[in-house]
Amino acid sequence: MTNNEISEIKDLLSTPQNIVIIPHKNPDGDAIGSSLALYHFLNKSHDVTIVSPNDYPEFLKWLPSEKSAIRFFDKQNKQSKKALENASIVFLLDFNSLHRLGSDMEKTVEKFDGTFIMIDHHQQPDDIAKYIYSDTSICSTCQMVYHFLEKLDAVNKIDANIATCLYVGIMTDTGSFRFPSTTSITHKIIADLIDKGANNAQIHNNVYDVNSYGRLQLLGRALSNLKVEPEYRTAYITLSQAELDAFNFQKGDTEGVVNYALSLDGIVFAAIFIEDVEQKIIKMSLRSKGSFSVNQFARNHFNGGGHDNAAGGRSEMSLEETVNNFISLLPTYKTELIQSDEA
Ligand code: 5GP
Ligand code: MN
Repeated sequence: MTNNEISEIKDLLSTPQNIVIIPHKNPDGDAIGSSLALYHFLNKSHDVTIVSPNDYPEFLKWLPSEKSAIRFFDKQNKQSKKALENASIVFLLDFNSLHRLGSDMEKTVEKFDGTFIMIDHHQQPDDIAKYIYSDTSICSTCQMVYHFLEKLDAVNKIDANIATCLYVGIMTDTGSFRFPSTTSITHKIIADLIDKGANNAQIHNNVYDVNSYGRLQLLGRALSNLKVEPEYRTAYITLSQAELDAFNFQKGDTEGVVNYALSLDGIVFAAIFIEDVEQKIIKMSLRSKGSFSVNQFARNHFNGGGHDNAAGGRSEMSLEETVNNFISLLPTYKTELIQSDEA
């Protein structure tokens, strides 16, 4: 984002506006955290609504103002459309292609003829926004929102609510500050957020120590379904719809499970395949260590994308066929997988 663009945005925001903030479908901690942080910042002088394509996990349902600020496009369609119709500015946070909203919402958002501002850290952004702040080296959209506020000379406006929301997104997208995208700058920002009122111990507790019995049992099943392809330094997990049902699956219950496969010694490529009978798809989460790009793998074979080391995709085949297809692709990538360092 150039200095010129920043001053144009400052001008735009110098008078009260109707603003809609949009996170991606199946929003995670970073998508909801960044949306709510920006909401709390902008809502001081504008009329702001967050329109999420659908619901988000229980472990985020304590964030400041989450209930009053967020409308769901699927369940509160009229209100969502009205907010979009009235908006002059739409922020797109933590995604970079309108198809990540799902086809219904994509069709509505496409028609918006005001100003789009995109803040996102995924690769290959579509050219949909007038203002694009895109940086794939930054660990989270929440860190980018912090930098965006720096650019607007507004870091001093960060209150405890904003600090809390930003902390959540940085924490969840960095695997609690352990992924390589975590830098000294990330830690300096985190220190500042704590100074500004983010209660770090409480936040970790609210997000991570709220497991249901069913979720832990489902994790147990996932771990017993873990399979390893040592030749390709690959491990994967499957969960069928029947297994999800048996353990009373709730949104968010499978988040992070793929990381157990990646934690196996010597493994550089991990996948989880989750059956969704209602949507008639297999949803996949892919993770890697080192140079092997799961973003590229997901784009090439599974209609998806994401980051080099964390991506997602989907398949319309059965669970078994999808897994067989996945295994049949591994030989093509053998050299890359063997050489993918673990740093
Ligand atoms: P997760 O596996 O946690 O759902 O997603 C990992 C990363 O990949 C996230 O940054 C997410 O935005 C991205 N991602 C997940 N699923 C898809 C998908 O179907 N398409 C694209 N383009 N990105 C995805
Ligand atoms: Mn993110």
